[in-house]
Amino acid sequence: MDDVYDGCSSQEDLGTDEGWAEEDFIDDDDDGPVSGGAPSSAGAEAGPSSSGKADTWRVMGMEQIKKLQVEAISHVTSLTGCSKAKALALLVNYRWNDERVLSIMADKGLDALYESVGLPTEAPHPAPATSGSEEVTCNICCESVAPNKASSLAPDCSHIFCNDCWKQYLSVGLSEGKGSQLRCMGYKCGAPCDFDKVMALLKGTLEAKRYQEALLQSYVDDNNTARFCPSAPWCGNVIVVESDPVCEPECSCSTVFCFKCGRSPHSPCTCEMWTKWDEKISGDSETRSWIIANTKPCPKCTKPVEKNGGCNHVTCKCGASFCWLCGEQTGMTHTWKSIEGHTCGRYKDELDKKISEAARSHKRYMHYFERYKGHSDSHIREKGRRQELKDRIAERMESGVDARDYTWLQQALHQLITARGVLAPSYAFAFFFFGNDMYKDDFDASTNTRNQNLFEDQQAMLEAEVERLSDLAEKCIAALVAEEEDHAAVQSLRLEIINRTVSVESRIIHFYNMVQELLDQLQTCSAHIAMYKPQKNVKIN
Ligand SMILES: [Zn+2]
Ligand SMILES: [Zn+2]
Ligand SMILES: [Zn+2]
Ligand SMILES: [Zn+2]
Ligand SMILES: [Zn+2]
Ligand SMILES: [Zn+2]
Ligand SMILES: [Zn+2]
Repeated sequence: MDDVYDGCSSQEDLGTDEGWAEEDFIDDDDDGPVSGGAPSSAGAEAGPSSSGKADTWRVMGMEQIKKLQVEAISHVTSLTGCSKAKALALLVNYRWNDERVLSIMADKGLDALYESVGLPTEAPHPAPATSGSEEVTCNICCESVAPNKASSLAPDCSHIFCNDCWKQYLSVGLSEGKGSQLRCMGYKCGAPCDFDKVMALLKGTLEAKRYQEALLQSYVDDNNTARFCPSAPWCGNVIVVESDPVCEPECSCSTVFCFKCGRSPHSPCTCEMWTKWDEKISGDSETRSWIIANTKPCPKCTKPVEKNGGCNHVTCKCGASFCWLCGEQTGMTHTWKSIEGHTCGRYKDELDKKISEAARSHKRYMHYFERYKGHSDSHIREKGRRQELKDRIAERMESGVDARDYTWLQQALHQLITARGVLAPSYAFAFFFFGNDMYKDDFDASTNTRNQNLFEDQQAMLEAEVERLSDLAEKCIAALVAEEEDHAAVQSLRLEIINRTVSVESRIIHFYNMVQELLDQLQTCSAHIAMYKPQKNVKIN
């Protein structure tokens, strides 16, 4: 995230060293926040809204983030009467949730609120006047310095140190990433530093800029409702959600991502499923087959154990001993030929069962993986087709050969790509949801079967629509990009493509609703997915 944020330093507003004064935040631009959501890409008749809720996220630039930050700080200072420095410390610790800070104050009182984040509770002592000519002794370096060479940076205590010691301390704090949490150097003091005073001391240095950036970045990093757009190079935007973090917002730069985990969109999988799926498919397959062929899982800790030498008695790192032939845990006493108290023969049936279970589970995984991979590959291929088409249309328009409107075809490809992005993770969803593993305590066998049938029916219907549209689009593009364009063929496909595009979208919406209904049946936990939202930045030309 640091690197991403660095892109921001090129913006003039952050390059200044005018201090963290409130005027600094006043934004003269009128750019209101870009509201999320969009008109349906496939027309209004595409089907019912997937969620029926209003959009829950906004795209914001750093100037707007600054404004929100200033608002939160003054909200807390005005209601608690505390210093801005204390308000900042409270907000950083309560993840910029000013309502939560104020409700804790209302419930438990101001002192308890301060104590909960290690802030001093006493009223500030006035700092001794430093205008006199009396020298000040710094408690850190023990030097006596003129009063104008020493400062007190925290408004809630009266500790004074020499400016050189302060600068060194601040520089270390900033390089350790504690820019938003700078506290007084006084022994066991903990009073937060005031940003205006820190800025005055650091004026003109590189640290001043870093300090400002760290404070602003804290509003996004230490905040459950804000996230930097993950585009690379960074587009400069932050997504702010109103309440529900389970959504897949689209930035104005057209990057779509999962707000909750920050990765590329993966609905209808939950973040948890997606993490597990990622782990499962990213293991090096060669290493994996070597492990399957040459190791056996320890019966106690399940880690793979390699056989060491000819003896059938193997010991795992966890300390468990087991028999290599049958995999059963045994005692330690053994000879080359036998393990005390253990005979393999009677476990033969068990062994067969274990082997066939492993084979069955591998086959099951491959079933889902192959289909996942198929849609992922089509996703990439169709993205390539969309680009080709875009280039081709631009080329024709430029040369003046053709100024016809191919928006309908671009929208078809866009809908197709979206649908692949739903179908691919839907196989990961099915792998975990019906696998009698992740949610094994939530469903009995018959409910599980009923759910799986329902899911597979809907999935198959979506798949069929998608393949039909994919076919038509391929034909149409082939006719369009051919040396001699077959214009009649293109026109004859047009109406059907438009209709199929609409049916694919309405299938996706039904599919999402069905998946959420399945998740709503969970007893042991609750899970929900980012609902389908038509993307708004269908880039035409
Ligand atoms: Zn000093
Ligand atoms: Zn202090
Ligand atoms: Zn962006
Ligand atoms: Zn996620
Ligand atoms: Zn073990
Ligand atoms: Zn041995
Ligand atoms: Zn054995």
